[in-house]
Amino acid sequence: MRLILLGPPGAGKGTQAQRLISKYRIVQLSTGDMLRAAVAAGTPVGLQAKAIMDRGELVPDAVVVAIIADRIDQPDAKNGFVLDGFPRTVAQAEALDRLLAERSLRLDAVIELAVDEGILLKRIEKRVADMTARGEKVRSDDNPEVLKGRLAAYRALTAPLSYYYASKGIHRVVDGMDPIDEVTAAIDRLLAKARTKSRTKAGTKAAKAKPGKASPKARSKAKSKARSKARSKARAKPRAKAASRKAGSRPRKASKNKGGMRKSGTRRRLTKAR
Ligand code: ADP
Repeated sequence: MRLILLGPPGAGKGTQAQRLISKYRIVQLSTGDMLRAAVAAGTPVGLQAKAIMDRGELVPDAVVVAIIADRIDQPDAKNGFVLDGFPRTVAQAEALDRLLAERSLRLDAVIELAVDEGILLKRIEKRVADMTARGEKVRSDDNPEVLKGRLAAYRALTAPLSYYYASKGIHRVVDGMDPIDEVTAAIDRLLAKARTKSRTKAGTKAAKAKPGKASPKARSKAKSKARSKARSKARAKPRAKAASRKAGSRPRKASKNKGGMRKSGTRRRLTKAR
């Protein structure tokens, strides 16, 4: 499962990402967290990013794309990932497309958490108050002034990604103002649909790509279907012949439906007995 969570600062991407990683056993790739770790470690990237982040502006595309390229190749990302805070510009989205294509990987869905900007400020104020109460260090960019800049950057550079992914048919929106559990449930529903769709697509693609060359599983399924069809035909023939001799009419085809009904009736009785 490979996903992107889109949404302005404070939309709840981090909270939902945490739930997604335990449910799907994937990793959360948050460029914000990675950059903060680089700042804390004093790496060259961290030194370059610190002032930009403190102003609420965006770190250069090349920097974050290099971080992500390196990260998705790590073994723990093989099972999938949820990107949180990346891509943030169309150029980053295009770079991500290239990175994935080079690795023959695909995105399953891009989920946008739609929120009311007026309420975001209150949410972030609460986050700061909660963190302070717990004695945790507050992010240097979590203050009303910088938040305005982060929101402006989101509107100008990140919001256009909705159209970018909508044109690819993988963009979905959930109401980020709903209670956390409801947002999670809405995401789950979307992902269940997206997975069914991508499985169906993959199946159709495989069948189209190699006519006559089905997968071993599909081959054995088709074989057993053919075998059971032949068996039921063989069983139906003598009965039909006998019936036609008796009635002096043409043999009727055995009804498929009848067998099915009997079977399900039996199953129902068994369930009741249990
Ligand atoms: P937010 O809570 O605002 O969504 P993040 O924790 O994702 O913030 O990121 C914090 C800061 O890190 C951003 O304001 C920006 O300066 C920088 N940053 C994070 N991800 C990116 C990115 N993909 N491109 C450019 N800058 C980024």
